[in-house]
Amino acid sequence: MPLRISQWLTQLYTAFLPRLCLICNHLLLPSEKGICARCRLYFAPTLLHRQTKPLLERLFQYFPFVKGVTVLWYYHDSPLLQQVLYRMKYGQNPYLGLYLGRFLGESIALHYQWEIAAILPMPIHPRRLRQRGFNQCEWIARGIRTTLPNKPPILSHIVQRTRFRGPMSRLAVHQRLHASIGFRLTVPKQILRLYRSVLIVDDVITTGTTISSLLAYLESVFDRDLPSMEIYIGGLAWAKRGKG
Ligand SMILES: [Zn+2]
Repeated sequence: MPLRISQWLTQLYTAFLPRLCLICNHLLLPSEKGICARCRLYFAPTLLHRQTKPLLERLFQYFPFVKGVTVLWYYHDSPLLQQVLYRMKYGQNPYLGLYLGRFLGESIALHYQWEIAAILPMPIHPRRLRQRGFNQCEWIARGIRTTLPNKPPILSHIVQRTRFRGPMSRLAVHQRLHASIGFRLTVPKQILRLYRSVLIVDDVITTGTTISSLLAYLESVFDRDLPSMEIYIGGLAWAKRGKG
């Protein structure tokens, strides 16, 4: 995906000017990258790694091949994060996604023993992609990748969003609930099967419907093969139902 002019300007800006926090514009410490520690203090952490059975995992309980779910911050309790996520998506600033993704990757590397063979950014609708020029989840995935020691590949553009067309009758009840959003693989399924453990990345997780749709789709494509795959899910923010 070619970068737009505004993204090139941001790149020039970060290369030649003093390193400033992308959120508050204060000077960054040498140890900080993109977003300063002070701004991060305004994001409400979920600390899910301290819980043995996080409530969040219930959203994906029908998919036994989902081996772990983590989200860094609470969406409704973090007004600054809400602004930043808005700027990332609508203000043409994918770099915010990159640096927020680094925080998520650092947390995964530190707190979880997940062996991640590849990262799959949640695809956004092609119309959105044309309007925005980038998929924010892909930039979050890039940030995560920089922090993982094995530098797993990012599986961009191999899954596309479409309208659902598959035979509903083949799906279990819980899958039909989620089947309103369709997906399709742009590569032979054998390619995705090469990766035994895949981290799916999203920006904000609310009810988990979009990710569940993708999981149901993968289940229908891989059929009996999927239980041998391990899927992990990582998100920046959790917009918990019943709040805000
Ligand atoms: Zn800052």
